[in-house]
Amino acid sequence: MSLLSIHNLVKRFGALTATDHVSLQVEQGEIHALIGPNGAGKSTLVHLISGLLPADGGSLQLAGQELIHLAPHQRVAAGLSRCFQITSIFPKLTVAENLLLAVQAHHRNSFRWFKVRDKDAGLKAQAWELAQRVQLQSDWNTVAVTMPHGAQRKLDVALALAADPKLLLLDEPLAGMGPEESLEMTALIAQLRTRHPGMAILLIEHDMDAVFQLADRITVLVYGKVFAQGTAEQIQNDPRVQAVYLGQEDELEEPEEGAA
Ligand code: ADP
Ligand code: MG
Repeated sequence: MSLLSIHNLVKRFGALTATDHVSLQVEQGEIHALIGPNGAGKSTLVHLISGLLPADGGSLQLAGQELIHLAPHQRVAAGLSRCFQITSIFPKLTVAENLLLAVQAHHRNSFRWFKVRDKDAGLKAQAWELAQRVQLQSDWNTVAVTMPHGAQRKLDVALALAADPKLLLLDEPLAGMGPEESLEMTALIAQLRTRHPGMAILLIEHDMDAVFQLADRITVLVYGKVFAQGTAEQIQNDPRVQAVYLGQEDELEEPEEGAA
């Protein structure tokens, strides 16, 4: 059984079918990348998975549990965690405070039988472990908003990991990053697997170097439909994908408003 199993998912915006009977499977422990030109429906699909948008049809199962009718927070409890591109960070709190809040929120009952002092120590140890996982130990006492963009993105990833997800949704984790930060984040994503075996990642990313470096399998969306699906190697060498996506990407881009 696949960890995430999406079957015939549909989302319409008026006459536009932004998600057109999309089916895909994400296996335990794999990094599955979702690529496609602008307007292909990547963000819509992520919103359908996280529950931010209601679907018009289809099913979505995580570890055998149907999620399609669940609210976003119920999907998080079921094991689905999403990075929100910094918006989940409390900007005026330190890295430590942000991580402690996240750990507390997701482990409400796990220290029920401990003395208060042991409980605090346990939570702090978990928060520190998360800081280590995203290499923010040296920023432990830094106020989040004062950190560079790349470090804030790392903190955002750590906050998502606090839920101990079965599936992590990463929506453009390299967006707005310089080349050095991109390389660092790519390495960090690759390392998440060794630290968290079994956790799968659904990665939406424009940086093709990072996608081909990280992904085990890739789904290509075009106009809301699955255009191609396969291993990173198959997609990279698929002449159809090269022709309509990688090679002549511009032809599939929707014209920008006001463009001649
Ligand atoms: P991508 O993330 O791949 O660039 P999106 O999922 O953002 O694509 O958009 C897919 C299509 O759905 C686009 O044509 C976009 O204009 C349209 N769309 C997205 N969100 C909405 C919305 N809330 N209302 C109407 N149309 C939308
Ligand atoms: Mg998008």
